[in-house]
Amino acid sequence: MTLAILFIGISALSAQTTSTLSAKDFTGPFMPYTAFEKLSQNPMTVKGGTLDIRFAPGRIQIGERAVRNWIRRSANALITYYDRFPVERAKILIVPVPGRGIKRGQAFAFRGAAIRVLLGTSSTQKDLAKDWVMVHEMVHLAWPQMRSNHRWLSEGLATYVESIARHQAGDLTEEFIWSGFQKAMHQGMPKKGDKGLDRTHTWGRTYWGGALFCMLADINIRKATNNRMGLQDALRGVLKAGGNHETHANIRFALRTADKATGKTELIDLYEEMRADPMKPDLTKLWRDLGLRVSGRRLRFDNEAPLASARQSINNPPSRDG
Ligand SMILES: [Zn+2]
Repeated sequence: MTLAILFIGISALSAQTTSTLSAKDFTGPFMPYTAFEKLSQNPMTVKGGTLDIRFAPGRIQIGERAVRNWIRRSANALITYYDRFPVERAKILIVPVPGRGIKRGQAFAFRGAAIRVLLGTSSTQKDLAKDWVMVHEMVHLAWPQMRSNHRWLSEGLATYVESIARHQAGDLTEEFIWSGFQKAMHQGMPKKGDKGLDRTHTWGRTYWGGALFCMLADINIRKATNNRMGLQDALRGVLKAGGNHETHANIRFALRTADKATGKTELIDLYEEMRADPMKPDLTKLWRDLGLRVSGRRLRFDNEAPLASARQSINNPPSRDG
């Protein structure tokens, strides 16, 4: 009897604490760390870390379990790519908002690594299955914070690695990710009057210019190591050296740390080539060399193409003894 009263007392208290909060406490420009701490917690353990998942007030139609499954699947893509979750503890705040689909995602680190996603209350399982935002934000957690003129690198990594990680985890086909790159990557090419990546900060140069840097670096590392290593090994090296979103780093220091993991200098070399001046790779030739062949509405692969083995090694996570 006494126990039952005690339980009622605790749950009434926690309900009261949460009910004083409303959606506007969670949708401002910054991560609402203080309000987050007042929400009830239900952490999830993943390889390398704990996800402190909390839901802001509001009812999501498909239920919290479906949302948690989506977060776990996204974390698994990260773990496949990086071999561990990038930070020991990440706060994941889900804010229910009117409508359908993922409305916005942001990664923070001011008071510990955090991700906030605004999720439409009428979102379906299908919306979550095809979502890329959660993985994109999680990739941000795996890279140090830098000066704002290097934002292209953080966004480029999130854009490029998101696709590869989801493919490696079995969530996207090879055709889907490479046709996505082929259709979108040109948006990162320098336009007339554009300067290098550190100097022109348009949307295209930031997201797809950054992704282009990552893809070229990946291919260069594969070429230099006879496909033994790639960008993935370099990025794992940064995490192993302690670099993640909760740290700040000078860009050259971070790129040299990444290069150290492969024993080459491809990242720093490409950075020096692309940072100040516009660099225009021949994308049509690159897609052909990678073995991408458009056939009607489908994309086929020519495995005899000169860089086909680089493409194949990008598709696969490094082997354990690799
Ligand atoms: Zn981003």
